[in-house]
Parts: sequence; structure tokens; C-alpha cells
Amino acid sequence: MRDIIIAGGGTAGLSAAIYGVRAGKTVLILEEKFYGGQIVNSPEIVNYPGIAKISGYEFAKNLYDQAMALGAEYKQARVVQIRDGEDGGKQVVARTSGGEETIYEARAVILATGAKNRPLGLDREQEMVGAGVSYCATCDGMFFREKEVAVAGGGNTALEDALFLSNYCSKVYLIHRRDQFRGEDRLAEALRQKENVEFVMDSEVTELHGDGMLSGISVRQVKTGETREIPVSGLFVAIGQMPDNEDFQDVVSIDGKGYIEAGEDCKTETPGIYTAGDCRTKEVRQLATAAADGAVAALAACEYIG
Ligand code: NAP
Repeated sequence: MRDIIIAGGGTAGLSAAIYGVRAGKTVLILEEKFYGGQIVNSPEIVNYPGIAKISGYEFAKNLYDQAMALGAEYKQARVVQIRDGEDGGKQVVARTSGGEETIYEARAVILATGAKNRPLGLDREQEMVGAGVSYCATCDGMFFREKEVAVAGGGNTALEDALFLSNYCSKVYLIHRRDQFRGEDRLAEALRQKENVEFVMDSEVTELHGDGMLSGISVRQVKTGETREIPVSGLFVAIGQMPDNEDFQDVVSIDGKGYIEAGEDCKTETPGIYTAGDCRTKEVRQLATAAADGAVAALAACEYIG
């Protein structure tokens, strides 16, 4: 029996772990993939208070090392179910990538599952992941050195990805469904200065082409309805994230968009279950607010445990 089990080893989960162990509690983090969450894919963080500039990977590693040095425990497995345990505690069922299930027990649980990449929803999109379709420019960009690629999206991630890829790829098409970017002007301006970047505005990707490997995409101009084919060997999808909380719908309330309902106190409707970071209903999803949620949720859990 641990005091606190945290589902998710991203910024919110690792911050919660730090606060939990610092309060003298035993804390187990269960993370499906690699620690760090979404931020590991960010090449540069310049808006985290107190740190002028750091890479996402270094930030995540520092957070993980800090949590481990303070005494948190970490296991790689996905939390697939939470149910009532003995003496008011919770049973947490976790499954490894190999399909092995283990039941853990805790007095309180913090759900910090973050969000996963939103797919475009195109035919063959999932089967072409690794064959030209990618959701992470910093992870896969190197495979497309000197090749032509496209980025779909208009937020900061898409703009940053396009900028990153423009340093390696011969040509980058940035495809956005509106005529204005959602991302910051400074990034759009930096892209305008790049000779090998072409903006394809008011447009959406409608089809993937290629036998085995991606060889091109169809792009429809939404105002004219005209469709053109663009030959690319890579398509980087950067159209935001979506939560991944279906496994918890029996134990907490989930809103229409899939986020776990809780206020700034990070308390769900279920005593003993807290939620932190991007998986929670909230207005601002930033690194700083994820870390803040982690602290709030952990201290609430500590108070609950007594
Ligand atoms: P985002 O800001 O939600 O932007 C998603 C983009 O994808 C939007 O331009 C949206 O179009 C487009 N989109 C959504 N669904 C689509 C669909 N089905 N088909 C085509 N396009 C679609 O997501 P994000 O860029 O991943 O950023 C998430 C958060 O992280 C933001 O708050 C962002 O500022 C932050 N972030 C910050 C940094 C940084 O500070 N360095 C870096 C990366 C991300 P519309 O504009 O038409 O809605």
C-alpha cells in the first residue's frame, strides 16, 4: 500500500511526486511511455518562470531526477482501471506494454495523464505512422534531411515544427485550415524569412498517397474547393492534443471534450482521487500551470490521507 499513486509521469505528475515525497508520503508514479510527457518534444522552453531557456528534454530529465532523488518510485505501465480498495483506499490496475497487469493499492490517486496528439483522422493515417506520417518533428525530423515535407496545423507547435524542419529539409509546406495562425507572430515572422517554407493557408489535408511509404498528400483549398497534390515524403501532424481519460469514466466525471472535471483545487468528485495538468478541465494549459496543478493535487492528497 502506497500513500499516493500518480497516473502519468509528465510535468504535472512529476511535480506532484516531488510535493508528495517532500511531505513524507510514499509515492509511486505509473507512466505508460517515457517520463516527461509532451514537453520532451519541445526544442526550447523560454516561458517557464525562473529558467531563461532550456530544452524540453533537459527540463523533463531534471524533474524526473529530482523526484527520484527525493525518493519517488517510478514504473512503466499504463493505469487502465481504478476501483475501491480496502479501508477506503484505491486499487489501481496497471498494464505494461507486454500486457502484464498488476494491481497496486494506494490511499489516494492523482490522475495526471496529460493529453495525446490529435490525429487528422485521414484514411491510412495510423498505418503510415513511421512510414512518413509523424506527430513529433523533433523526434523524426532528422529522417527527412534534404527531403520535402509538410506540417499540418497553425498553433505554436506547428510553427515551431516548421521552423525546426526548415533547417534540415529542402522544402517545408505549412498547411493551415484558416488564413491566420493561432501561434505567435514572432514564429510566423521567422518562417516568412525562410526561403524553403511555403504557407498553404485556408487548406486542409484530405488524402495520403504512397505505396508503403508516403509519397504525397492531397490538399484542398477550403474557400475555392480546389484540390492539389503535393509530393512530400513526410507529413508532420501538429493540430493540438486531446485527453485520454476513457479508462477513468467510472470513477470521475469527464466533460464533453474528455477532460476530467475538477476546479483549481484539483479535487475530482470522488474523495481520494485528484487530477492535475492537461487532462483536467481548465482554461490555461501551460508548463507552469501543469507544475502548479501537481503541487496543488499532491498537497490535497496529503491532507486527505492525513
Ligand atoms: P493549439 O494551439 O491548440 O493549435 C492547434 C492548431 O491545429 C490550430 O491552429 C488549429 O486550427 C489546428 N487544428 C485543430 N484541429 C484541426 C483539424 N482537425 N484539422 C486541421 N487543423 C486543426 O495546439 P498546439 O500548437 O499543440 O499548442 C498547444 C499549447 O501549447 C498552446 O497553448 C501553445 O501556445 C503551447 N505551446 C507553446 C510553445 C512555446 O511557448 N514554445 C510551443 C508549443 C506549444 P485553428 O487555429 O483553426 O483552430
